[in-house]
Amino acid sequence: MQPGARGTLWWRALAWLVLSIVFTATHWPNLQLDLPMRGSDKVLHAVAFMMLALVWWPTGFVRSVPLFALAAASWSILDEALQALPFVHRHAGVEDAVANLCGIAIATLVIVALQQDPRAPGHAVRTLAWRMVIDRPQAWMACAASSALGAMAGGVILVTAQSLLRQPIKPMHSALIGATLGVAVALHATIVVMMRSMEARLRAQRCCPACGAPGADGPACAACGAAVPGSSWVVPIARTLGGVPDRHWLRVGLVPVGIAGIVLVLVMAASIALSIRRIEALQPYLGPEVDPGMRLVLDAVALAMAASAGLWWSRRAARRIREKEAIECMACGHDLRGVVPESGIGRCSECAEPFRIPIEDPVRREG
Ligand SMILES: [Zn+2]
Ligand SMILES: [Zn+2]
Repeated sequence: MQPGARGTLWWRALAWLVLSIVFTATHWPNLQLDLPMRGSDKVLHAVAFMMLALVWWPTGFVRSVPLFALAAASWSILDEALQALPFVHRHAGVEDAVANLCGIAIATLVIVALQQDPRAPGHAVRTLAWRMVIDRPQAWMACAASSALGAMAGGVILVTAQSLLRQPIKPMHSALIGATLGVAVALHATIVVMMRSMEARLRAQRCCPACGAPGADGPACAACGAAVPGSSWVVPIARTLGGVPDRHWLRVGLVPVGIAGIVLVLVMAASIALSIRRIEALQPYLGPEVDPGMRLVLDAVALAMAASAGLWWSRRAARRIREKEAIECMACGHDLRGVVPESGIGRCSECAEPFRIPIEDPVRREG
């Protein structure tokens, strides 16, 4: 069985499970929630459809981001429209549909921001590590356990913090936000730890990037026959930002933060103009008040837009720097155009840093 095949099946089962939970919750006849804040149900709508989109994307049923976003948006509108059926005794509202769309917008921005560059160093090993991690039941159990702990810790921390600060947020609301943040942090930490140890194992055993069989040391894998370029095992240069050396921190780190800041300011200005954020002095000229839950959802979309724009810019800058990998040494900047590579990998004649020859450069690739 190919690595990742079993993991994908489990993932699809999870996606269908989440879909049926969301569908049941949105169509439960006469559901009455005792909500802590006016418009809190908008937050629940947005969170539900964001989670739904985030678990459906990795199923791989739809691989194009715009098509996926379109399908998810259509589903969310259909879900809201079905609530208008008389026997469901629910209320279909335009505001609920907007909250659903906001949740899907946030999920889409997350997906765009986290998209991997297949040319990035270590991408083949990372992809294989992910497929092998999700194949293991222990990994799913570790994620479930850490999510539960994260939800409890995050909920307790935020409820305590807001009671100390005497903020006018209801405890139930801060518990919900704290739990969501706690799950995100705990899941991220668990996945990072599992991926690191799996990547280290795959590199040590030289596992074939296609089938995962160990000892694929040569031009082709003995188990599945897939071509195994020597560059699969080049350990990427010491890096903290986007797989490029730290000396590019301005292009890959600071400029994207500035871009994110500009996007946030623009979105906030638009949100004041549309009367979503209120400024008392301007209120006589602006529209009616938006309810607090809806405002929270729209603010979350604004933050996601800013963060996603910054990450997208950073990844693009890193990709442009890496395009020069075989021209200029990533570590010391030495000119590499005269260096003759061996089976797709060259070494800088100044500092011995390995570099890969792009696939589009067959002349030097033959070396
Ligand atoms: Zn293989
Ligand atoms: Zn060098």
